[in-house]
Amino acid sequence: MSVGRHMEEDEVEKFCMRQMSDQESAPFEEHLLTCEDCRNRVLETDLHVSAMYHAATQVRGASQERPMWSWTLGAASSVAVASAVMAGAFLVRAPRNLELQEAHLYAMRGAAMGAKVTAQRPLLLIPDLTGLPAFPSYRLPVVDAVGKPLFTGEVTAADPTKKVTGVTTGIYFVRLSSPAGELLREYGLEAGR
Ligand SMILES: [Zn+2]
Repeated sequence: MSVGRHMEEDEVEKFCMRQMSDQESAPFEEHLLTCEDCRNRVLETDLHVSAMYHAATQVRGASQERPMWSWTLGAASSVAVASAVMAGAFLVRAPRNLELQEAHLYAMRGAAMGAKVTAQRPLLLIPDLTGLPAFPSYRLPVVDAVGKPLFTGEVTAADPTKKVTGVTTGIYFVRLSSPAGELLREYGLEAGR
């Protein structure tokens, strides 16, 4: 049974940090199948949590399984942004790996899942088109965390891959859309070092 309402902020947080029992999270998973708003919130929070996690383990230099989160998500995302800026500075001097990497963007149980990639390496976006309405082609705009367009491509069911280069460290959203521009599915993409 779906929970029958939108998720509260603290519920999204608990859900993303896997602090819910299966029994607790089941009604939310049901709701996420049909609610794009909540799905986007979960996806964004998920990316923030994972960016925070990386930032915190880098700062601490420790290999703890899970840091203790005592700060709010808002404060922590600025930590992640600061760390992303620092990571960018390092990348300028680091040798670049030019080998093509594949980013599989899956849809599971109706919710779009993100992919983690290495920044500055050429990237092959492979969105999962399963379950989508049939179109001759699909638009594949990629925007950054504040919605600024980075790139727009096109894929077809016969060739659902698109090569992207020059992706810098950060969080992106791949907005799989119909030819008319209607958003069909949104995937998160995290480019790190
Ligand atoms: Zn909702």
